[in-house]
Amino acid sequence: MMKVAFVGLGNMGGPMASNLVKAGHEVRGFDLSEASVRSASQDGVQPAGSLAEAVSDAECVITMLPKGQHVVAVWTDLTTLVAEGTLLIDCSTIDVESARQAHKLAAVMNCTSLDAPVSGGTTGAAGATLTFMVGGSEKGFGQGRPILEAMGKRIVHCGGNGAGQAAKICNNMILGISMIGVCEAFGLAEKLGLSHQALFDVASTSSGQCWSLTTYCPVPGPVPTSPANNDYRPGFAAALMLKDLQLSQDAARQTGAATPLGAHAAELYAEFDKAGHSAEDFSAIIQMLRQQAQG
Ligand code: NAD
Repeated sequence: MMKVAFVGLGNMGGPMASNLVKAGHEVRGFDLSEASVRSASQDGVQPAGSLAEAVSDAECVITMLPKGQHVVAVWTDLTTLVAEGTLLIDCSTIDVESARQAHKLAAVMNCTSLDAPVSGGTTGAAGATLTFMVGGSEKGFGQGRPILEAMGKRIVHCGGNGAGQAAKICNNMILGISMIGVCEAFGLAEKLGLSHQALFDVASTSSGQCWSLTTYCPVPGPVPTSPANNDYRPGFAAALMLKDLQLSQDAARQTGAATPLGAHAAELYAEFDKAGHSAEDFSAIIQMLRQQAQG
């Protein structure tokens, strides 16, 4: 069992830290929000009043923060706070460049580091069923795996520094594009007088089959657990989909990759976000597409 410092106890980090406690690790938690620290402390996370207090004596430091700038700022502070050899793991979803910068900071400290973003959302965080996509050395992966296993059920080593973030944004670009494709198909079916159930029954067992259809079906009925049956409450918020699509487009620009559908999906989610729907599930974009058809 390890002494773990957990930095960023929000919607994801709070339950992840709590699962580390359940697995027997000694966890000290810090967040800029006192309310988040208090809430995590109810699950056995020892509250820390500062980053320095959280990481003193820690054998492993985990960050779960909103964006690349937050991760780089915290890891820069860590350079003067942690001992050589500490294992540093960032689980936030951030741009590949910032992830690589964080790895460089860790190397300066002689620390082992991993980028380990997740999929599975808040339900996966609560149930310890997250998938971790991990970038870093074989040795670092071996060290981090037992810790990650306390918070997830699938741990995939994707390659060297930044490979976890690369896998995450590529996957979510597929997800954003496929959700819009599924929404367009239901919109067209409605115009053609084809029932939602009939389209689902055919496409879910044919070549149109995908996760956006079979797990997050954007119309109520065919998949009773999808957010469409719950007034499009997330689920996976449209704001997070927009963030991930924008990360994919930043990466495409930097590397010169051609992603025309990714770019269009990012534009559509930006429009949806601007219209005030950022807190809805990302499948609710079907409603904006229907309105565009009427207009
Ligand atoms: P959140 O906003 O609920 O939590 C982030 C926390 O970080 C906040 O409590 C904030 O106070 C804290 N924070 C910010 N700067 C800090 C600092 N310098 N020091 C200490 N604490 C600081 O966000 P979340 O939903 O938990 O998401 C965290 C990360 O996980 C994001 O990168 C997000 O894209 C990713 N993610 C989220 C989901 C999801 O469904 N929510 C799914 C997959 C990945």
